[in-house]
Amino acid sequence: MSGSGENQGGLMSSAGLVRYFDTQDRNAISIDPRTLVAFCILFGVFVQLLSLTVWSGLSERLAAIISVSRQSAFFLHLPVGESDMQAGVIAVQGDVSEHAAAIERAATVHDTDVDVVEIRTSGVVPECDMLLVPGGESTTISRLIHQEEIAPEICDHVEAGKPVLATCAGLIVLSEDPKDERVDELGLIDVTVDRNAFGRQRDSFEASIDVTGLESPFHAVFIRAPMVDEVQSRVDVLAQVNGNPVAVQDGPVVGTSFHPELTGDVRIHRLAFFSEPAVEADPWPPTTQREIPTPEKPPRVMR
Ligand code: GLN
Repeated sequence: MSGSGENQGGLMSSAGLVRYFDTQDRNAISIDPRTLVAFCILFGVFVQLLSLTVWSGLSERLAAIISVSRQSAFFLHLPVGESDMQAGVIAVQGDVSEHAAAIERAATVHDTDVDVVEIRTSGVVPECDMLLVPGGESTTISRLIHQEEIAPEICDHVEAGKPVLATCAGLIVLSEDPKDERVDELGLIDVTVDRNAFGRQRDSFEASIDVTGLESPFHAVFIRAPMVDEVQSRVDVLAQVNGNPVAVQDGPVVGTSFHPELTGDVRIHRLAFFSEPAVEADPWPPTTQREIPTPEKPPRVMR
């Protein structure tokens, strides 16, 4: 008995074996310790994997629930804990960052939290509460928004009564008739425009203009500006230069032939998106004003 250890109860080591045996009937179960260690490791890994699978399944389900509730919140116009609104700047070409900054400033003034997104592909416009079509080159902007299938989404946005600010080339693209077959117009502002009617780049000029809804003049920068030459009766003329409309409103769409994003005065963005004009002009050191060129043709206002 003694020395062999086989008659002692419990776990015993003998010739590399762990022997568990019943002291009564001496039936023993042998387990190799390496097998035991390997089993423990495998079991641990299995438990880890199982818990990971269960957790990721759960977290996926949780994420899905959160996403669905966020989408419902969006459609039901409920607050979702992030920005109050989303503004989109059409960014296929043109001056995008200046407008994005102007929208953010305008929103801050109105104590509204707005996320600004740059739009280069379809599918984003439907998520936007407000849209900006910037200045640039109207033939290029027109071509790209059609190519990227953004154009019909802009039309749906206006159809839904959501606001748009279209500046310079943007105004040309959204007009009823830009009189240039290279621009595939959207017909969202019922005006006819003459591209570059105020002259070329070197004829750019600045002017302080009265704008309906603003209590003091707005310092406007005109660069290769289009002239609005026919205005249908449903369109409101908000500002003129030498008798030419340079800011118009057709329902939810405001169009300007100047660049309101270049001066630091965001009242035009406020007017277009927040429908609440500034009482006082933002401080802006006006640069030397150039003489305003007189367009060759006087505008026709259809009343
Ligand atoms: N003249 C340009 C055009 O036709 C517009 C200029 C501008 O957006 N500043 O597209």
